[in-house]
Amino acid sequence: MTPLPGGCYCGLIKYTITLEDPESQARTSICHCGNCKKFTGGEHGITTKIPKTAFRITQGMEHVKIHEADNGSGVLLHREFCDTCGGPLLEYGANAGDNIYVFYGTLEDHARGQVEPKGEFFCKLRDPWMPSIEAPTCPNVGAFLPSLHAFDYVFLGEDIPSGDVLDNGYPRNVGSVSD
Ligand SMILES: [Zn+2]
Ligand SMILES: [Zn+2]
Repeated sequence: MTPLPGGCYCGLIKYTITLEDPESQARTSICHCGNCKKFTGGEHGITTKIPKTAFRITQGMEHVKIHEADNGSGVLLHREFCDTCGGPLLEYGANAGDNIYVFYGTLEDHARGQVEPKGEFFCKLRDPWMPSIEAPTCPNVGAFLPSLHAFDYVFLGEDIPSGDVLDNGYPRNVGSVSD
């Protein structure tokens, strides 16, 4: 049993993720889609997929704010963030099943080390200056990734649902963004 603690930027909201084996039960991925850029304010979003039942808010539940919207693809996207600092906590699409996608940066330092990225989504939408995670700066990750540039969706050992990207850079199927 490995508890992975985290929380929002201002610290009002705290959570714990409890997994038997983070290596097999959690999957961290980088996503270059337009949704992730807008919501996180960065070049990409980075989330850790876990079973919903593994996630528990331990403090500040009353500060959790929810935003739900169709991103233009007909699929509802659910995001949770802090009502005080605005920091993101988690997201999931209507097709995510029993999984949620916790924003990786909200995990505490020692917890992030247990769930390092395994792949990337929407590589075509990577900003030109942004290296892939197989770059020499991330040797530990690159070691088990195939060439990321050849595919839109890259994960080892998993079938990624095919999907398209809308003209605005948003995924056609939200489920395929993070699933
Ligand atoms: Zn906060
Ligand atoms: Zn995305």
